[in-house]
Amino acid sequence: MLAQRYKEVKNRVEKACIKAKRAPDSVRILPVSKTFGPDVLQEALDAGLRRFGENKVQEMKQKAEVFAEYPIDWVIIGYLQTNKAKEVARYASEVQSMDRLDLALALDKRLQLENRTLDVLVQVKTSPEQTKTGMSAEAVPAFLQELKAMQTLRPMGLMTVAENSDSEATVRACFAALRHLRQQCQDQTGLALPTLSMGMSGDFEWAIQEGSTEVRIGSAIFGQRDYA
Ligand SMILES: *Cc1c(COP(=O)(O)O)cnc(C)c1O
Repeated sequence: MLAQRYKEVKNRVEKACIKAKRAPDSVRILPVSKTFGPDVLQEALDAGLRRFGENKVQEMKQKAEVFAEYPIDWVIIGYLQTNKAKEVARYASEVQSMDRLDLALALDKRLQLENRTLDVLVQVKTSPEQTKTGMSAEAVPAFLQELKAMQTLRPMGLMTVAENSDSEATVRACFAALRHLRQQCQDQTGLALPTLSMGMSGDFEWAIQEGSTEVRIGSAIFGQRDYA
């Protein structure tokens, strides 16, 4: 069942790529396993998935320990408290919710101790909603310059969560803003920034039209969540 839903999402991603005149393999899917327990994770592993998005550090750590024998890449996509840097440095391979300097400094310090590196995406606030986190767009180029100077952090691109709206124009404007910001950051920093992480179960086809290279898919693969 999960394997079937994953296949359907993959087909929809490929169709959206073709519609956008993009290569069908130009968009990566990040399965978001947050809130789902070991049984569901096992089903996903049996379907061949090895990279998962989680929004809570404690939950990631528990799952990483249960499935320690699998080579899994854990990706943090939720707001990160600085005091969680130690666990993140130990268990995560990527953080997509990088949004401030003190967090970057804390992670860099911990990663040096663990002798590890971490891919990071800067999360950008592209919608006016109070509930949305992320750095304001104006601050991003200078922040990327600071990340570039840290030994253990590898800035790979930008991430955003679009406004929660039924209006295609409103949602696409958030995605377009992230694409434009990436161009500006590439010009100003010289970083390649290959990744634009944008699009979720409800809006990923629009995100692909706007240039997304990675869609974060929870409910369309794992089913409805009870909470969070
Ligand atoms: C939960 C979550 C997703 C996945 O959401 P779905 O709508 O279930 O696909 C994607 N990105 C972030 C940042 C999330 O917290």
